[in-house]
Amino acid sequence: MKIHEYQAKHILATYGVPVPQGEAVFAAADARAVAERLGGGTVVVKAQIHAGGRGKGGGVKLASNPGDADTLANQIYGMTLVTHQTGPEGRTVSRLLIEQGLPIARELYLGIVIDRAAGRPVIMASQDGGMEIEAVAEKTPERIFKEYVNPATGLIPFQTRKLAFALGLEGDQIGRFGKMVTSLYNAFLGTDASLLEINPLIVTKTGDLFALDAKMTFDDSALGRHPELKELRDLEEEDPLEVEASKFSLNYIRLEGTIGCMVNGAGLAMATMDIIKLAGGSPANFLDVGGGANKEQIRNAFKILMSDKNVRAVLINIFGGILRCDILAAGVIAAVQELGVRVPIVIRMEGTNVEEGKRLLAESGLNFATANSMGEAARQVVDLAG
Ligand code: ADP
Ligand code: MG
Repeated sequence: MKIHEYQAKHILATYGVPVPQGEAVFAAADARAVAERLGGGTVVVKAQIHAGGRGKGGGVKLASNPGDADTLANQIYGMTLVTHQTGPEGRTVSRLLIEQGLPIARELYLGIVIDRAAGRPVIMASQDGGMEIEAVAEKTPERIFKEYVNPATGLIPFQTRKLAFALGLEGDQIGRFGKMVTSLYNAFLGTDASLLEINPLIVTKTGDLFALDAKMTFDDSALGRHPELKELRDLEEEDPLEVEASKFSLNYIRLEGTIGCMVNGAGLAMATMDIIKLAGGSPANFLDVGGGANKEQIRNAFKILMSDKNVRAVLINIFGGILRCDILAAGVIAAVQELGVRVPIVIRMEGTNVEEGKRLLAESGLNFATANSMGEAARQVVDLAG
């Protein structure tokens, strides 16, 4: 689960991370009052969307007085902000962060993620803050410094000092940086985050350090222990089909291809996507209806697939275990009868009650293509999707 910058900064502040003073507003008209409360000087008006690259896209602007802040807020609020992370359709801005403008001397990068290969959190830092860190990682990986944290000992002061030296920090900045990274690490652990990124982490002209931007993503599986974090979810920022799917406990992720997939079991779903690729097509989604799906879930899953305008053919690939093939067939038939279909459907199933399932499909009078193997099913569906 992702959250907005202003929400992340609020959490980080409770862990002792220095962040600029600011307030979020949900209407452009409220920006001026916040700018005045912040002292009437320079403020930054920042679009709040779940994507980075807002500065370049025109979603972060400096205002030298409350009047300017009002003008800029009116410009940015309601705009469709397109950045390299939003895709070409962009996002509508419906929240703004108004915060004090700080005098920047240096922009650094700091990120914490779980390195699955190492099985540990890794802290990454670079002098090349403010830029797309992906580009730094690709072109000049030697400019990114890493410290792996042993969970048994926690973050050790010498590690933060090492990073501070690598970043070229001096004097008091080194101690401040150590405290700040420790607070960030505590926030990462304390919230069960999967990503915590500060880009840029700035050094001001007076040598103070601040988290000027903040991105946090939480591990969905751990949200049960953080009811207060769950409340920060902003459904408007999520794909509507994914939100719909989550209501029915369907594991659905929308992708860019044209072949809708309905599969039971995450492993089979991955294999199905692979084999579609192998056959020259590309999947429109990952969808695991779950091992014990019932007729109702099949119907809902089907509905979601049909609402995706990119879908030109559907592949249903089911291994009947707890979900019996006849139940699946009945669910699919009911869904097709109710919703109608505008695209060809290929069904491949195997397992419990497969004969009964096939009989139901054949006798339904509906036009399904069936396949006996995954390879055959993939070739057929890719063909049908054109
Ligand atoms: P994004 O990463 O989405 O572009 P940032 O929050 O990193 O958004 O802002 C982009 C740039 O705007 C920063 O690199 C920084 O130069 C400037 N900026 C952001 N917030 C402030 C602030 N409070 N004071 C001064 N400059 C800021
Ligand atoms: Mg940034």
